[in-house]
Amino acid sequence: MSLSLRNTLSGLVEEFKPQSGNEVRIYTCGPTVYDYSHIGNFRTFVFQDVLRRYLEYSGYRLCQVMNLTDVDDKTIRNAEAAGESLRDYTQKFIDAFIVDRELLNLEPPEKMVRATDHVTDMVKLVEALEQKGFAYRSEGSVYFRVAAFPEYGKLSKINLGGNRAGARVDADEYEKGDVRDFVLWKKAKPGEPQWEAPFGAGRPGWHLECSTMAMKYLGETFDIHSGGSDLIFPHHENEIAQSEAATGKPFARFWLHAEHLMVNGEKMSKSAGNFYTLRDLIAQGHRPSAIRYLLASTPFHKPLNFTLDGVHQAQRSIERLGNFRFRLTMEQFAAGADESFVERAARARQEFEAALDNNLNTAEALAAIFNLVADGNSAMDQGEFPDGARQAFLDVLSRWDRIFAVLEDRDYERLRRHGLVSTRAGAAAEPSAASGDGRAPSMLLSDEAVEQRLALRNSARQSGKYAESDRIREELLDAGVILEDTKAGTRWRRK
Ligand code: AMP
Ligand code: ZN
Repeated sequence: MSLSLRNTLSGLVEEFKPQSGNEVRIYTCGPTVYDYSHIGNFRTFVFQDVLRRYLEYSGYRLCQVMNLTDVDDKTIRNAEAAGESLRDYTQKFIDAFIVDRELLNLEPPEKMVRATDHVTDMVKLVEALEQKGFAYRSEGSVYFRVAAFPEYGKLSKINLGGNRAGARVDADEYEKGDVRDFVLWKKAKPGEPQWEAPFGAGRPGWHLECSTMAMKYLGETFDIHSGGSDLIFPHHENEIAQSEAATGKPFARFWLHAEHLMVNGEKMSKSAGNFYTLRDLIAQGHRPSAIRYLLASTPFHKPLNFTLDGVHQAQRSIERLGNFRFRLTMEQFAAGADESFVERAARARQEFEAALDNNLNTAEALAAIFNLVADGNSAMDQGEFPDGARQAFLDVLSRWDRIFAVLEDRDYERLRRHGLVSTRAGAAAEPSAASGDGRAPSMLLSDEAVEQRLALRNSARQSGKYAESDRIREELLDAGVILEDTKAGTRWRRK
């Protein structure tokens, strides 16, 4: 088994091995914290989490660094409009980002770092580039001289050769020697946050932030750099130019880019106004695990079209998997072991691992598991499922879920912890616009799902696990289901 990944730099699917030993060093461009991230952003972050989890699953140790862009035109503009300091304003959205990550079951990177905590290092990188002749000053700002870096364009394959000095595309950029040049350090504007530097007060350019923080924590050459495909040009191209010009060494070995989450053929984005935040969807009654499933279900290098119907289907798929696991845990099967079933489970494991090894093909990994579920269910329905295969099937499901992370049903607990459950009763009454069936989605458990939880609660009570049985009662209450314990058994109704 060996992992291959599509490297944007070579344009090829290449076998992945870390640069040194067993540790994989990864840099991921994090959010610009001027507002809540939308679920388009989270498509890229979910992809990075699947990558993380599969590398861990494959036995690697990780050092992942994610930056938080907490200074740029948008953060400055919004902080000023809110009458808050840049630090306080961006902190709110950093906090929200961390909560959203937890809701989506995204593992925390080893380091999350704020750009504004690294300005001294950024100034040093600009000085190094100046000394080597890759940067020049102009009217209080400092620019990178693209002509001095012949490999410029090797990531994006964009040839800007013809776009030279004189062909001015932007009237604001008259101070550059060449339109391809990009800013490393922006001259301070009155009233804006600024930092002192040998070349004059100002603030760092966005590209410079990532080069600096990546090399500070991961070294001059590291294993994987990733982000959404909109970052290939100019952001990542510029990161390569700055970093490799300064060190003379390759920057990242593998460049991985997630294709966009689309809405009706258009990229989901703040500026197009076609976005949902995670909280918008939660307030409509959707479960974070369903959103995670949906975002993970299409391989990262293919665009994914977002619809609310897609979220419903994701929820149903999770329920199907949950039901199967429930049957595996609770049902009585015929005694004995039929080796062919144990082998069937082993084959499903091989198939989902092979799919993920093949450039993280999550769609095929899902298919492998659903084939196993179909085979298992039909054997159970026919009374042919052997008790001896129970554990092998459960093991495959739990291995698969170490990467997909949607089965361990902790949505309620997480939402409650972050005070996000209270909207649900209201939301449940509000039909979802896109589903078209007037049915409030997913936070309302299906009857089948309620029955399942009821059975779990009964068995917990029978074996004296009262904390567990109370937890299930509460979880059902959160989903708008009231239990009544009567002499004849437990009845339930919806609020
Ligand atoms: P930002 O907060 O704009 O800096 O973006 C954070 C991350 O989200 C970056 O890796 C972007 O490439 C990514 N991103 C932005 N829009 C989308 C989208 N519609 N689909 C997938 N990724 C996106
Ligand atoms: Zn970046």
